Amino acid sequence: MEHPAALAGPPIGWRDLERVLVVRPDNLGDVLMAGPALRALRRAAPDARLDLLAALAGAAAARLLPEVDGVLTCSVSWQEAGPGEVPVAADLDLIDRVRHGGYGAAVVLTSFSQTPWPAGYLCRLAGVPVRVGMSKEFGGAGLTHWVPSPPDGLHQVDRALHLLERVGVPPVDGRLRVRVPAEAVGAARDLLGDRGPTGSYALILPGASCPARRYPAGRFARVAGLLATSGLRIVVAGTAKEAALVAEVAGDTPGVTALAGELDVPALAAVVAGARVVVCNNSGGAHLAAALGTPVVVLFSGTEQVGQYLPRFAPASVLTVPTGCAPCRQFRCPYALECLDLPPERVVAEAVRLAAPGRSQDPYDGSREGRGIDSLSG
Ligand code: SF4
Repeated sequence: MEHPAALAGPPIGWRDLERVLVVRPDNLGDVLMAGPALRALRRAAPDARLDLLAALAGAAAARLLPEVDGVLTCSVSWQEAGPGEVPVAADLDLIDRVRHGGYGAAVVLTSFSQTPWPAGYLCRLAGVPVRVGMSKEFGGAGLTHWVPSPPDGLHQVDRALHLLERVGVPPVDGRLRVRVPAEAVGAARDLLGDRGPTGSYALILPGASCPARRYPAGRFARVAGLLATSGLRIVVAGTAKEAALVAEVAGDTPGVTALAGELDVPALAAVVAGARVVVCNNSGGAHLAAALGTPVVVLFSGTEQVGQYLPRFAPASVLTVPTGCAPCRQFRCPYALECLDLPPERVVAEAVRLAAPGRSQDPYDGSREGRGIDSLSG
């Protein structure tokens, strides 16, 4: 039996709403996986403005989601590991910004280990009358529509759709879809053209949000070297903060191009779209590949359950080593990262298999599922 407070709120008139706030202050991949929920909301509330409350990393991804009308970028205190990292004044300022938005409803999306209650309470203080969220624990008036959690192992996309379905928003579909702006395609082509790869290439993304999710740089370098001998050109990309990592992985291997800090998220999406195969950690790159239909090899550390983050609707190979300590939810591995003890040769074999001919050779021909590119002209 469900908790007596579960779904105690009245039916929500989604069609009549003028402004809806979706709360997802997380990383790139989390925002991409919110796409199907946003699509469902767009259909349920066709005339509403849909804004996303996002962290800096996720706000960049929102530019790829056609359903998002605007973004409130912020750091939220309830997501920080250090209690003093977001001052109280920032919370108060966020209340003002949400109040100023005049939202008729807020939908708080969370993973199984996050709580929607602080966000719900903040929206209550900001005067948002309808507040929807899902969790195991009950938290009183922070949410007007509290949905008890489904099983922990549910995929992140399905988890968000489950929440909406319980409050009268039917799903449209569970596919990730992104729209890559034409200027991003042009920027990616310019970059790749200048640096060498003008034909088919494999894209290596060695970064991840925390060390416990990163396949060792030395092994990534070995993957790059071996892949370079397979006939594919190699692009190694990362953020400006990952410059040293990108340089270490790229090394001075002929045929390997290093791009650190040169791609914003839309341009990264264009480079992912053009790749024959992506090799990456459990990170935003894997979800970009899934959204763009690009084959992807994911080196999946045991920090999370595979089923929650599995790339779907794109050819994917998820490699991990089962360990007794997984899922550990650690930022830094207290052991020796045994869950990513994967031989580079095995990684390369999967990448070569997924990159095999038979798929479209024109990366921008729009034939892959999930793809949306504004313009194909270079
Ligand atoms: S080896 Fe265990 S503790 Fe370390 S990251 Fe992997 S699953 Fe977590």
